Amino acid sequence: MNGISRRGFFKVVAGGSALALAPKKSAFGMAEFDGYPESMGVLVDLTRCIGCRTCEAACNREHGLPEPDLPFNDLSVFDQTFHGGTQKRRTDDGAFTVVNRYDTKTAGGPVYRKIQCNHCKEPACLTSCFVSAYKKTKEGAVIYNPDVCVGCRMCMVACPFGIPAYSYDSALHPEVIKCNFCYDNRLKHGKPPACVEACPQEALTFGHRNTLVKTAHERIRANPEKYVDHVYGETEVGGTSWMYLSGVPFDQLGFNTSLQHHPILDNTKSFLGIVPMVLGIWPAMFMGFHLLATGGKKEEENKKSQHRGEVHEE
Ligand code: SF4
Ligand code: SF4
Ligand code: SF4
Repeated sequence: MNGISRRGFFKVVAGGSALALAPKKSAFGMAEFDGYPESMGVLVDLTRCIGCRTCEAACNREHGLPEPDLPFNDLSVFDQTFHGGTQKRRTDDGAFTVVNRYDTKTAGGPVYRKIQCNHCKEPACLTSCFVSAYKKTKEGAVIYNPDVCVGCRMCMVACPFGIPAYSYDSALHPEVIKCNFCYDNRLKHGKPPACVEACPQEALTFGHRNTLVKTAHERIRANPEKYVDHVYGETEVGGTSWMYLSGVPFDQLGFNTSLQHHPILDNTKSFLGIVPMVLGIWPAMFMGFHLLATGGKKEEENKKSQHRGEVHEE
C-alpha cells in the first residue's frame, strides 16, 4: 500500500472512532467560545433588493468560478425549482451565493432573497467537523481548509441553512464548497466582500456586526410600516454574521423561522452521543479511505504548508 499500511489504516479507523465517540471539549474546539465582539458582518435589506443578480456575478468573478449555464442577466433562473417544485435554487460548487424570487401573499410584488453562508457566530459546520477543517476567524468569516477535509460531509448535514455544497470533481480530493466571506483577498484586509461592493441598490451593508444590529433596529424603528419587527440572524442559532431585514414575514421567503436561539453546539454534541455508529465509524472510515487513497501525502503537505504559514491560522 502507498504511504500507509493496512495496519495503519485500521489504527486510523480505530483512533478516529474513539475521537468521535468521546465527546470531550477538545474534540469540538469551540466548547467555551464566546464569540468575537469586533467581528464584521453584512446586513441584507430585502426591501432594497431588486433581484438583479449583480452580486452573483461579482462573486463568480471574484472567485474564478465556472460560467453558469445561463448568463447572470437571464432572470428565467427565478422560475427554476427542484425536488418537485419544493426547492428553489441553492448554493453549489459553482455558486457561493444565489438570489431567489418569492411571490408572497403580503408584498405588493415579488421579493428577492440572496443566500450565502451566514457565517454563524458558533457554526454547526465547525462543531460537527471532527478533523477541524473549519475555523471562525476574528473578522467573522467561517473558512474551510480542504487540505484536512476527509469528505465525510457531516458539515453539510449539520448546517441549519443547507449551505455547504460538495464538489464531486475528484473522488480523491473531496472538497466542500461555500462562501468564505471573501476572506483572503478582502475581509482580512478590512475590505467589503465582492458581492457587497457590487450591489447597485445598497441592499447589502458591510460593517461591525454589533453596529449592524443597531442599524437594523434603527431602520425598523424609523419605518415600522416597511419592515417586520425581526432581524433574522440576530439571535437565530446563537447569532450569525450575515443578518436580514424584510418587509414580509420571513417564513414567506423560505427562511427557517423555527430555529433555536442558542448555538447548535450543544445539540451537535448530543447528536454525536446518540448515533455513535454513524458519527463515530463513518467519519473514521472516510479518513482511513482518504489516507489510503492519498498515501497520507495531503496531511504531510498540509503540515509543511502550515510551517510555511500558508494555512490561515489566527
Ligand atoms: S451557515 Fe452553515 S456553513 Fe455557514 S457558518 Fe453557519 S453552519 Fe457553517
Ligand atoms: S462574501 Fe464573497 S464569497 Fe461570499 S457571497 Fe459575497 S462575494 Fe461570494
Ligand atoms: S446585487 Fe443587490 S439588488 Fe441585486 S440581487 Fe444582489 S443583493 Fe439584490
